[in-house]
Amino acid sequence: MFVDLHLHADGIPDPDLATLAYFGVKAAVTCARDAGAGSAAALRKHWDELVGVQAQRLELAGIRPMVALAVHPARLPWHGVDELLQRLPHYFDDPHVVALGELGLDQGGEREEEIFSRQLELAARLRRPAIVHTPDREKPARTRRMLALLKDSPLDPSRVLVDHVSPETFALARGMGCWCGLTLQPGLFEAGAAAGLISRHGAERIVLTSDIGEGATDLLALPKADEALKAAGLTAGLRRRVLWEGPLGFLKS
Ligand SMILES: [Zn+2]
Repeated sequence: MFVDLHLHADGIPDPDLATLAYFGVKAAVTCARDAGAGSAAALRKHWDELVGVQAQRLELAGIRPMVALAVHPARLPWHGVDELLQRLPHYFDDPHVVALGELGLDQGGEREEEIFSRQLELAARLRRPAIVHTPDREKPARTRRMLALLKDSPLDPSRVLVDHVSPETFALARGMGCWCGLTLQPGLFEAGAAAGLISRHGAERIVLTSDIGEGATDLLALPKADEALKAAGLTAGLRRRVLWEGPLGFLKS
């Protein structure tokens, strides 16, 4: 059984959601994404759609729905960010909304950093965990910068999932006490590499994520990874930690 802390239900057709449920994905967090028009109004519409429509689609498919909302660094609107961040806390009145996400840095720069820091403060104030996106380009440098901003924020690193880590950024994020998301997609983490990392470092604060529904993705990334971890000799206990207990523990953190 799996809990996926990072997918995008709005990019997954109904039959594929049913397939996910069939293969053991019991609960999932659908995160606010970077795609779409860049206005504040469009982003509000996206948040409303995740809470109103996508949570229900997940539930109908047999997957316990959870939602993460944030302003994604790759779609910062030019106007209206203040209003968005003022509005965001009200979404947590809905019990399905469990975390802030995805937030982070994409291209970097002063504006992205300021909005990232404000969202970290918001997460601390709301006592909610944060799911942080790290970009493909200049991942180590951006990750270092994000961790520096996190250090200056009131949010405890144990409430932050640094997602899409690479073997290099894994050490940085874990060293600071964050959770690390190994994203099982082409070009990110291969299941074999994930197995090697978990056997070397243990399963503490490591979760496997899929990011399905956005870009080049493998629908069955998590079930296949479980098989690969098993084939690599990882115990059932370790596999359960990274695919089930860890994700649930992060959400309760
Ligand atoms: Zn994503």
